[in-house]
Amino acid sequence: MRRMPELPEVETTVRGLEKVLKGRRIERVEARRADLRRSFPHDLGQRLTGSRVTGLSRRAKYGLIHTDRDDTMIFHLGMSGSWRIDHAELGKHDHLLLETDEGRRLALNDPRRFGSVDLVPTSELDDWPAFRALGPEPFDLDPRQLRTSLAGRTAAIKLLLLDQSIVAGLGNIYVCEALYRAGIHPRRAGGSVSLERLRRLVPAIHQVLDEAIAAGGSTLRDFVSPEGELGYFSKTFAVYDREGKPCGCGGTVKRFVQGGRSTFYCPRCQR
Ligand SMILES: [Zn+2]
Repeated sequence: MRRMPELPEVETTVRGLEKVLKGRRIERVEARRADLRRSFPHDLGQRLTGSRVTGLSRRAKYGLIHTDRDDTMIFHLGMSGSWRIDHAELGKHDHLLLETDEGRRLALNDPRRFGSVDLVPTSELDDWPAFRALGPEPFDLDPRQLRTSLAGRTAAIKLLLLDQSIVAGLGNIYVCEALYRAGIHPRRAGGSVSLERLRRLVPAIHQVLDEAIAAGGSTLRDFVSPEGELGYFSKTFAVYDREGKPCGCGGTVKRFVQGGRSTFYCPRCQR
C-alpha cells in the first residue's frame, strides 16, 4: 500500500503543478462531485474560471494556487490524493478538473476522499483558521526558537514535533528519521532536550526533508507520462517501517505506538 502524502510529496506536487499552471489562464473548472472531506466551495468555478495563475506555494501539507483575482485555491491531499496531468481518460476518482488556456488538463484524484479544496482571498491567507494556529515551516525552524517552544514541556519530543503549533507539516516518517539522525530518543521529554542536541536535530529535519524532496524531484521529468501522477515516489528510510531490521550500529530497529502512531527507533543510537 502506498504511503500517505507528507510534506515532501506536497512540495513535489506543487513544483510539478507549477510547470503546467504558472502564468496560465484557467479556462475550465469542473467539480465532478460535490465534496471531498468537505464540500467544494460553491463558487469555485465562478471565481477560478478566467483567472490567471500568478504562482504556487506550500504551507505545511497544503498546496496553494494563487490567482490574479486575489484568490488562492488551497488543496490538501488527505490520505490518498494526487494530481494527474493530461490523462486521456478520466477515472472515477478524478473529482476536480482544471483546464488551462494551453489545453493542459489537471485532475485531482482522491480515492479515499480525505482531501479538501478551499478558496480563500490571498490577502487573508494568514487568518485562514487552519493556518492561523500553525507554527513555523520546518525549513524556517531554528534551534533557539525550538528550545523556547519546548521549554518546560514534559510530553515526548516525538509527539511535540508532530504538534502543528510547534512546527508545521512535519509528519510521522520525517520525525522518526530526524530523531534517529540526531540520536534523540523519541520518548525523551521535550523540555529536557538540550540546545546542543537541538542544534543537531534542526539540520537533521532539514536533511531528511531535502533528501525526500530531491527524490520526488527526480520523478518530475516523468510526470506527464500516461500513468504518471504527481508527488509519489519510493524512498528508503533508516528506521521508519524497519522494525526488527538491523541498524548500522549493529543494534535492531524497534517499534512502539505513541499517540496512536508507530514510532521506529534504534535503542542503541537514540538516548
Ligand atoms: Zn543504531
